[in-house]
Amino acid sequence: MLLDGKRILVTGVLNDQSIAYAVARLAQEQGAEIVVSSFGRVMNLTRRAVRRLPTEPEIVQLDVSDTDDLNALAERLPFDLDGVVHAIGFAPPSCLGGGFLDAPWEDVAIAMQVSAYSLKALAVAALPRLRDGGAVVGLDFDNQSQAWPVYDWMGVAKAAFESTARYLARELGPRQIRVNLVSAGPLRTLAARSIPGFEHFESVWSERAPLGWDIRDTEPAAKAVIALLSDWFPATTGEMVHVDGGFHAIGA
Ligand code: NAD
Repeated sequence: MLLDGKRILVTGVLNDQSIAYAVARLAQEQGAEIVVSSFGRVMNLTRRAVRRLPTEPEIVQLDVSDTDDLNALAERLPFDLDGVVHAIGFAPPSCLGGGFLDAPWEDVAIAMQVSAYSLKALAVAALPRLRDGGAVVGLDFDNQSQAWPVYDWMGVAKAAFESTARYLARELGPRQIRVNLVSAGPLRTLAARSIPGFEHFESVWSERAPLGWDIRDTEPAAKAVIALLSDWFPATTGEMVHVDGGFHAIGA
């Protein structure tokens, strides 16, 4: 099995539609022991979701915008880690769905902190428990070289997230810790459904992706996360793997 004997922290399990839920399930099926993180108001949803996993994992409290939670993470973890999965995104309503020109900095700052800076914050918080040779894998929506409709400040945050992953790869490389992203096509999760106009992506995607695209199937993205957590990408870091049916490679 791909993750035999590995121990992984999976953030971002909200319900069984979360990309992180598919990651958690596949990680367990591939031999990993996992711990899940959640926080405050959504903790109960996470608790309900993880009961349906093959083995119910421990849940640790982590709000990535809370300094006390970040400082306490290493102590709260039940074991040392071989991998950390970042599946966290949030932007206030003003930052999404149009109104790019009007979103106030206070809201944009929240989007940047929770959706971009948090990759660094999470990695550093977990670092005391992360073994040399481990892996950090994040979930992305490709914003390297394009502006999307309705994605607005979340797109700007994702561009910062992508850059953060590359700088983290520089910093953690000397410890043989790899940092990579999976750039998924649109998936109908709670985060996506909260973006007004997100349906636009869904229809465009299934038309243009050479392999086709199922907006309800989180497994392809999760499989790529598992592969990047495994020992089968030993010399890959600072990379983004597209799991988008091939959409990114096609012009029109
Ligand atoms: P989701 O709503 O299931 O997950 C988002 C998670 O972020 C939730 O578990 C939520 O609890 C967590 N979160 C929000 N604020 C947080 C905070 N302050 N501290 C800790 N956790 C916090 O949706 P998802 O689509 O599975 O999102 C997971 C990741 O995948 C996100 O980074 C998202 O941008 C990315 N992604 C999603 C899509 C898509 O179309 N759904 C496509 C590409 C990438």
